[in-house]
Amino acid sequence: MIIPVRCFSCGKPVGHLWESYQNATDKKKVMDDMGVERYCCRALLMGHVDFIDTVAEFKRA
Ligand SMILES: [Zn+2]
Repeated sequence: MIIPVRCFSCGKPVGHLWESYQNATDKKKVMDDMGVERYCCRALLMGHVDFIDTVAEFKRA
């Protein structure tokens, strides 16, 4: 859906990193550069699928 603002496991804010992660080709490098070191936060980014726009089509106003 939408990337969580904070990591579920450790509480590190990761929501603002999503766009740069998404646009990057070298995912490992961009995570290293952004300081995402723990595997809980890395898994959050790697496992995320952004389908809010798809869901929004079926939401009632
Ligand atoms: Zn974490």
